[in-house]
Amino acid sequence: MQNAVPFLKPDPTLFYSPSNDPWDPIYSLREHGRHVLTSVEMTLSNLCNMRCEHCAVGDTLVMAEPAKLPLDQMLRRLDEVEHLKTISITGGEPTFSERTVKEYMIPLLKYARSRGISSQINSNVTLDYGRYEAIAPYLDVMHISFNYTSSDDFHQIGFAKSGHAVAKETAARMYERMIDNARRLSEGGLFVSAESMINYRTFDKMPEIHKLIVEMGCKRHEVHPMYPSAFASDLPVISTAQMRDAIASLLDSRDPSVWMLFGTLPFYHCNESAEDRKLLARLASEPHVTVRNDPDGRNRLNVNLFTGDVFVTDFSDVPAFGNIGSDRLDDLFDRWLRHPLARSVDCHCPAAACCGPNLLVRDMYYRDVDFGARRAIL
Ligand code: SF4
Repeated sequence: MQNAVPFLKPDPTLFYSPSNDPWDPIYSLREHGRHVLTSVEMTLSNLCNMRCEHCAVGDTLVMAEPAKLPLDQMLRRLDEVEHLKTISITGGEPTFSERTVKEYMIPLLKYARSRGISSQINSNVTLDYGRYEAIAPYLDVMHISFNYTSSDDFHQIGFAKSGHAVAKETAARMYERMIDNARRLSEGGLFVSAESMINYRTFDKMPEIHKLIVEMGCKRHEVHPMYPSAFASDLPVISTAQMRDAIASLLDSRDPSVWMLFGTLPFYHCNESAEDRKLLARLASEPHVTVRNDPDGRNRLNVNLFTGDVFVTDFSDVPAFGNIGSDRLDDLFDRWLRHPLARSVDCHCPAAACCGPNLLVRDMYYRDVDFGARRAIL
């Protein structure tokens, strides 16, 4: 293990905190009285050194990728977004190609800095530390996935779809490097947010996973239930009761000084189930715990940098509804808001700070529910 070199950034916890999460669409909804586009996610890579079991974009991963659109075209479209507050960069592993890091990622992060908006990249941080060190001075949030209690878990989950055997020792080296990178980036002052999914593998291991995330120095633990979708649609589903238990076990055992952010939960304040509402009440009362409203299609769109196509999320089954070659992003967002799918989840209960369900969650658990006719029961 090597020591971290500080990136000379201000303390990120002074800016990102449970009371300031610029990715949550509830803030822009309150400010503007309607949903507006404040967040643009860009898919910058279809390359990855892993093939995770749960990867929702696994079917788009390739060994060699086509050319991307010119960076200027993307920057011009970002410039037009009137209320832009955040950008996110995703993949694949967006740092896989050093050329992409140099020619796209760093310029996009510098653009965000110059405009005073926040930035996030989604990375597995398993590559050489130097790659992340080069990005860190311009980046606000390093979002990583962490669903493991050991290198064996990492081996089983991270290469489940690789199509060929990956040696345990190779996986163990990558696991150690990932942990060391996350720790060094955290010590250097970067806001590292580790996301864990509650699924059939992890639902009874969440406290152990949380402990390792705290040991890596991560500033935030993000927790989302996993919904089998797209490439990962064949995975077993756990019951909502198992999900509630997993969340309760985390709340019982967590380090209360670390921000814990829950997202895409399948529980709403308008549910008849007293257990669901009891859990939501507990989440609302816990210090350093937030429940983020779903950004997909509420304040955020995804742009595929290879084609210019615009989607509601990077892994959505909903086809592209426009292209940055011909349309402004604000116009495309307004077009999406008029889409019947967007309207089907467009509800808002201010007293519960809730602005409706995620589309996947609605499809999985609430197919026949008219959310427009519901109200939070408080
Ligand atoms: S905003 Fe929608 S999902 Fe949330 S509590 Fe109200 S009706 Fe239910």
